[in-house]
Amino acid sequence: MEWPELKETVRNCTVCPLRAGCTQTVFGVGDENADWLLVGEAPGAEEDRLGEPFVGQAGRLLDNMLAALGLARGKDVYIANVLKCRPPGNRNPEPSEVAACSPYLKRQIELIRPRLILAMGRFAVQTLLNTDATIGSLRGRVHQYHGVPLVVTYHPAYLLRNLPDKAKAWADLVFARKTIASS
Ligand code: URA
Repeated sequence: MEWPELKETVRNCTVCPLRAGCTQTVFGVGDENADWLLVGEAPGAEEDRLGEPFVGQAGRLLDNMLAALGLARGKDVYIANVLKCRPPGNRNPEPSEVAACSPYLKRQIELIRPRLILAMGRFAVQTLLNTDATIGSLRGRVHQYHGVPLVVTYHPAYLLRNLPDKAKAWADLVFARKTIASS
């Protein structure tokens, strides 16, 4: 599938029950030829309302961290989630929902062909690396997703609740920038 068909397929998707309970699908946003692909978990309330990933409080933190790197949403950065529909009450994604939705993310990655994937949070990391390992044990190394370098970090919503870990997330972003620069 190319971009138009992929977007249309996601818009009309009813493969899992989540679509019935959300306002709209949240496909992804940004530069479709970006070097950086950031992957989160699933839309929350604001994302569900506006149709764009990371536009709530966690998104503002993410935008600030990107700005500190000299990056911006839409400018050499693409942002997507594992799930395109909001789980009710922001509950964790079910494995069956991840299995139903992750082929869309896979195709997005194939079309973008980023130079680096930043996997943010447990669900992005576990889905893309097919592992149960913790973020803490996977940080600080370059992993591979089908030949694309992948760096692991905490989810911005987690950072809002655990401020001391913000320094670690910043270190992850700097590590990601170094990885891209040397690739
Ligand atoms: N959390 C996510 O994982 N993705 C969003 O788009 C918003 C919050």
